Amino acid sequence: MDYAFPPAPVVTLDAMSSNPFPVRRIFCVGQNYPDHAREMGADPGRDEPFFFMKPPGAILHNQPVFPYPPGTADLQPEVELVVALHKGGKNIPVDRVDYDYVFGYAVGLDMTRRDLQRAAREKGRPWDMAKAFDHSAPCSAITPEFYAGNISRGKIELKVNGDIRQSGDVGDMILKIPQMVHTLSTLVELFPGDLIFTGTPAGVGPVVPGDVIEATVAGLEPLIVTIGEPAR
Ligand code: MN
Repeated sequence: MDYAFPPAPVVTLDAMSSNPFPVRRIFCVGQNYPDHAREMGADPGRDEPFFFMKPPGAILHNQPVFPYPPGTADLQPEVELVVALHKGGKNIPVDRVDYDYVFGYAVGLDMTRRDLQRAAREKGRPWDMAKAFDHSAPCSAITPEFYAGNISRGKIELKVNGDIRQSGDVGDMILKIPQMVHTLSTLVELFPGDLIFTGTPAGVGPVVPGDVIEATVAGLEPLIVTIGEPAR
């Protein structure tokens, strides 16, 4: 088909022993670890985790430098386990998620303009510009479930210049992966290629140009990026 201009290329993630994984959409879970919910001022016993999105073009992959974004003075990385789906649907049964729907796992960073997020929250406005900006979703290669197994626990950690900032266990997630996929699929139809950034443990804080971020989840490829100077 002829278009008015060339369509954007498909965004892909490398996947071990597989063809590249084409990314369709990026869903994110907010306040999915009790300790992080508390540090954000929420009550994990009362406030349930919630969903938001980033555009697929926000993926930063196989690029060692994350350019410091404009419009913020408080950039904060959040280390997250990323779930990659290769099957979609509506009303997906909880007990079929792990083996039928999950293609594999990756390590991601939910990059956040915390100052814009706070301002949006105070005014009750959407927080897309705090969460869904250019390059706001750095992501490692995918480890297929065949190699990783079903991930339901394991250490998740973020280091900045070698110092541990965030440390937790994915077993502490409030909304577990099967329930998360089920619930999302009752709200929207899911499709192959959808990613879910599953939330972050406590310890979030600002980073500045020159900082080296090392994000890890036990059993997965680490994600290492350096915060670059603002693009001009
Ligand atoms: Mn997050």
